[in-house]
Amino acid sequence: MAFPVPRSLSPSKVSSFTDCALAFRFSVIDRLPEPPSAAATRGTLVHAALERLHLLPPAERTVDAALACLADARVELRDDPEYVGLELRGDDEVAFHAEAAELVRNYFRLEDPRTVRAIGLELLLTAEVDGLRLRGIIDRLELDDDGGLVVTDYKTGAAPPTQHERKRLSGVHIYSLLCEELLGRRPARVQLLFLRDPLAIITEPSDRSTRGTRRTLGAVWTAVERACHREDFRPQPSRLCEWCSFRAYCPAFGGDPAAARMLAEGAAAEAEPQLALELA
Ligand code: SF4
Repeated sequence: MAFPVPRSLSPSKVSSFTDCALAFRFSVIDRLPEPPSAAATRGTLVHAALERLHLLPPAERTVDAALACLADARVELRDDPEYVGLELRGDDEVAFHAEAAELVRNYFRLEDPRTVRAIGLELLLTAEVDGLRLRGIIDRLELDDDGGLVVTDYKTGAAPPTQHERKRLSGVHIYSLLCEELLGRRPARVQLLFLRDPLAIITEPSDRSTRGTRRTLGAVWTAVERACHREDFRPQPSRLCEWCSFRAYCPAFGGDPAAARMLAEGAAAEAEPQLALELA
């Protein structure tokens, strides 16, 4: 029996599949739970703070206001299962929030938020592109001085080495394609703001990059469908294994992917009566 084919792809799923097809399967097809990660949760917190900052009138977007936004976002996150699951206490909790504050301060070294004309924040876009359902959340969509669209993606992890910049930009090129499909206009600029370093990587989408993005998406989608039909998702060991939550099921670490499948099928069977009850 073939694995179920995912209903859509997002930039993060595309990069998950190209990084390691087996990790993609565990996460997207088997839907194995992953333990909360401090880095991801801190990213959520900082994104929420910057979203709040850009909702303020331009003149009020100061460092102090951003730190106040961070404090508000922290209160909101307090009961979130992802944050609670981190079980942060004492020095760890202090360090977690100090790092978040540092990332917010660093943001001001990359741009002056008083000059940003955002027209969308945390924008969920979905479009059919060449028969593929594509979806993504754009951190910020804005207008430049000439009225051109600009897509901005905040990153709270480390910036990639120069030779990997193109790969990291592939996600924002997908956002650019989504904008073009839905708004009928290609963004003038797409940018990644790495808050840790801090560093901005900026590019201007072109006919060539758009064609390349379409080609890559088509190739990834074909590969995903084929892997599902053949039940063949291969491990691709790399330094990313160090942070992978699925090592217990990965043959590269002595695990058995079939155990993950059984777990997934068991969870689906358990959910079915519940669903039937909800639909009754
Ligand atoms: S441990 Fe490495 S090879 Fe195995 S699934 Fe995770 S990322 Fe892939």
